[in-house]
Amino acid sequence: MSIRKIDNIDEEIYDVVIIGAGISGSNAAYELKKKSKNIKILVLEAKDRVGGRTQTIDVKCANNKTSRWDIGGQWVSDSQENVTRLMKELNIQTYRQFDDGLKLLEANGNISIYNSSVPCSSLWSWIDMQLYMWRTNRDLKKISTIHPFSDRKLANTLDLSNAKDYFYSKSVTPTVRSIFTSNMRTIYGLELEQVNALFGLMYLKAGGGNVEAITYSDEGCAQEKRVRGGTQQISQKCLAYVQKVSTTPENMTKILLNEAVLEIIQSEENDDEPVTIITNNTLTDSKSQFRARKVISTIPVNQYINIKFTPELPYYKRNFFKFFQVGNYIKFLVTYKNHFWRAKGLSGEGTYDGSVKWVNEERFKEAYKNEINKLNFNRKMPTFGAVNEVFDGTNEEGEPALIGFIAADTALEWADQSLELRCKEVIEDLARMYGDEARDYVEYVEKNWAYEPYNGGCPCFNIVSSGVMKDYSRATREPFINVHFGGTESATVWQGYMDGAVESGERVANEVLYALYRHDPTIKIDYEKTYYHHKELIQKMNELDAKRSNNKFLSYSKFLVKTSVVLGASYYLAKRFNLNARIKLPKFF
Ligand SMILES: Cc1cc2nc3c(=O)[nH]c(=O)nc-3n(C[C@H](O)[C@H](O)[C@H](O)COP(=O)(O)OP(=O)(O)OC[C@H]3O[C@@H](n4cnc5c(N)ncnc54)[C@H](O)[C@@H]3O)c2cc1C
Repeated sequence: MSIRKIDNIDEEIYDVVIIGAGISGSNAAYELKKKSKNIKILVLEAKDRVGGRTQTIDVKCANNKTSRWDIGGQWVSDSQENVTRLMKELNIQTYRQFDDGLKLLEANGNISIYNSSVPCSSLWSWIDMQLYMWRTNRDLKKISTIHPFSDRKLANTLDLSNAKDYFYSKSVTPTVRSIFTSNMRTIYGLELEQVNALFGLMYLKAGGGNVEAITYSDEGCAQEKRVRGGTQQISQKCLAYVQKVSTTPENMTKILLNEAVLEIIQSEENDDEPVTIITNNTLTDSKSQFRARKVISTIPVNQYINIKFTPELPYYKRNFFKFFQVGNYIKFLVTYKNHFWRAKGLSGEGTYDGSVKWVNEERFKEAYKNEINKLNFNRKMPTFGAVNEVFDGTNEEGEPALIGFIAADTALEWADQSLELRCKEVIEDLARMYGDEARDYVEYVEKNWAYEPYNGGCPCFNIVSSGVMKDYSRATREPFINVHFGGTESATVWQGYMDGAVESGERVANEVLYALYRHDPTIKIDYEKTYYHHKELIQKMNELDAKRSNNKFLSYSKFLVKTSVVLGASYYLAKRFNLNARIKLPKFF
């Protein structure tokens, strides 16, 4: 039995209620309105702002000025087709991420300089890096982001393994292992050993299809470009369009901030019945009730714990949501009076493998002797050398800055310390790499996304258990009665990125249009983008996989070809080096 007091009841029945005004939710609203101006939409956002994991803020910079920087998602790439197309439609421009000059790598305690995309200091590590990328990319080709279990044999093996075991099996040198461990910590926001290998590879596959695309700042790669005016305006401009084209009470769009969804109630027996949504206003603590024919939810997966579903979400979704962990970043931005690193020929790009750890308590105490009473040792001694990756953060106005991340476990450790100590640690790390000038900064700003209400971590969730990926597509994307699921976590391309958020918003919008208006010829619906179409593809992939594994002829032929190659090569070598004269070989040699 439950008692609930509702303070406000909205009598309207909306066509669609969208939960979350990040890029995914805002783009869903934009896509719906682009295709049907008459649709009645309500957007419910729990924060006091739109943009979600994108946030553009004012920071003090040189000459007593302030300028704008992104403290959340910031990079885009021309290879990210969805966000690129959307920004073009919204008239949002980009500029190139500065990466001219030498890059730095702190690996195994030493700082080295390189000028290629691949940070390798010796020929051996360069060869190892090429092999690691080639072998990983070869596996990526076999993984489908729509259905990670499309190749059952490979998927079963990967699903039972973790990303560290997988990547270590593809490389041998400590340098290469240090480099990719460091890169991957910023990609996943977790330690490699925490990430399910199949999930980890699917995430890389979604991120451009190969290891290079998700790692580098080269053309077409994830860190290629920045957004003029900041990324938060992607959501702002989508919603401005939606409001502009909603001119009458019949086709209105309402956007309510500070409304956190608490409950979603729908009928199992009659899916024509509107869905009821209960919210709590975070400013007034009052409860409101809304109704809609369809609901699009774009909240981060870890936030479903805060919403009560009646009837309960199906078992495969609930169960799946137990097996993930959200990544951790503390993103920092340090503004300077000049580009002192550029003057030294440095690009500003630096990777730390975290090996300059506090070696013993004495060294740590020496470094922090003046602040020792302020350190918080409750959880664990923090890692000495907190920074994971740094980039030139100069903004579109040319204001000098370095931008970087404390990631994964290190972010958790340093989250326990005070802002003052974290700042000191970051500045020391920068000074070690870029020189003493790094200490003369204008402003240090940081945001720990783990503490951001209604997000609780970033860049997105990771699957951390083994043997749970079979239901991945259904769990993240399949609609539940009248509720459709978006958000970057549910994307099939650039999952965890802004591009994925755009793609997922478009998918759910088309799903809802298909469910509501598939018989209306005036509305153009992209059926291929919907989960309904994905489901058909998954069915076909399963059939193909079953055929492949049942095809005894194919596996015998493969066996015969492999055996013939081995025997042929042995025969050739035996003849070539006259082996039968040197050692006693069977007669046929
Ligand atoms: C520090 C950082 C750096 C990043 N760097 C990049 C980058 O360089 N490039 C890139 O492409 N991506 C980057 N990302 C990731 C990118 O920002 C996200 O993938 C993207 O913004 C996610 O959009 P979304 O709409 O799916 O989710 P969100 O932006 O999280 O939007 C979901 C919205 O739902 C709201 N919400 C949650 N619960 C409720 C509720 N109960 N009721 C109502 N509303 C609710 C939230 O407040 C939020 O506004 C970065 C992220 C972070 C944090």
